[in-house]
Formats: sequence, C-alpha cells, structure tokens
Amino acid sequence: MAKYSGAVCKLCRREGEKLFLKGDRCYSDKCSYDKREYAPGEHKNMRRKLSEYGGQLREKQKLKRSYGLMEKQFKKTYIVAERMSGITGENLLSLLERRLDNAVYMLGFAVSRRLGRLLVTHGHFLVNDKKVDIPSFVLKQGDKITVREKSRKYDVIKTSLESAARRSCPEYFELNADAYEGTLKAIPERDEIMSTVDEKLIVELYSK
Ligand code: SF4
Repeated sequence: MAKYSGAVCKLCRREGEKLFLKGDRCYSDKCSYDKREYAPGEHKNMRRKLSEYGGQLREKQKLKRSYGLMEKQFKKTYIVAERMSGITGENLLSLLERRLDNAVYMLGFAVSRRLGRLLVTHGHFLVNDKKVDIPSFVLKQGDKITVREKSRKYDVIKTSLESAARRSCPEYFELNADAYEGTLKAIPERDEIMSTVDEKLIVELYSK
C-alpha cells in the first residue's frame, strides 16, 4: 500500500492549518506549525492568493492528507461517496470518518491516524469479535471495535489511551477504555465531524 514518506509537519504548513498527524507532538510546544505558520518555501506574510482551481485543490489535499491517504485511495472513496444516496461531500466525510484506522485513532487506541493504520495492519483489533486488519474497512452503525486480548499489554496502546484523554472523542463513537472496546454509535453527521474542510469545493473539483 502506497504511503507518504516525507516530513509530515510540512504538510500542515503547506495546508495552512494543523492536521494533527504526529500524535502528542501536535499538542505540545514542539509543533512546527505553531512555530512557523507559513508554507515551506514561502516567507512569512507572503501567502499567495489562490485561483478557484487552486482553492479546490487545496481543500482536497487537506482532507486527503488529514486522513493519510494517497490520491488513488482517496478517489476510490470519493467514487463510493458519489454512488451513495445523499450529498456526495458529506458522504465522503462520513466514509473517511468511519474507516477503521480513523476509529482506532478517534477512540484513543492510537495517538495518530498513521499509528492507527499501522496497528490495524498488524492485526491488533477485532470488529464484532472478528480480526480485521484492513485500515480502509468502513464501519457500520453499531460495530464494536476491540483491542485483541494479547495486544492489550503493548505500551503503545496503553499510553495512547492515556494521552487521548486530553483530546475529545466525537459523540458518534463510544469508548469503554477499561474493556479496551469502542463502538460506532451512529453514522456521523456533517455538523458533528470535526473537519474544517469545505467538502463542496472537492466535489466541484472532481466534477470538472
Ligand atoms: Fe502538524 Fe502535528 Fe507537525 Fe504540528 S506537530 S506541524 S500539527 S503534524
């Protein structure tokens, strides 16, 4: 599976906002975006004005990078969103939010989506009591995610749960930290999803 291997903090600076890609570091004074809020290669106070296309492209890149996806995976998700009933942009956000790697991050079993993806790939989770090691697996309402018994001893999961207590978990997820278990209580609605992306611009981009 293709993945971005460059310096992730540059992505936040490129998109002009914090994408929270590095776990605890993002909440600390070591965050490079907090230190330098201008894009790589640009000087302070020199942000370029974007064209219509440029604005649409930036929104797509921001969303794609937030969830750690490459273009092919992102487009595939978009096509699924387009075929669903309802509003394409909102479907897209809902599908991304219900990915298993995102759920693992949101519930606090991983400090970042990137780590969530790695832990899923290594088979540390069950969905409805069956092992699932596919990060792009899309959860349905009521699905239960459990850390496998033998994986509960790993410090990386324990410390993630401790540090996750500092950030908020959306209401459509429910965590039972003592049981190493979480549930997708409801399909996320747009106004509940914590994303600053203007998904309508992404739909406009792909509709060209
Ligand atoms: Fe982005 Fe986190 Fe790096 Fe800050 S520390 S620039 S939020 S990835």
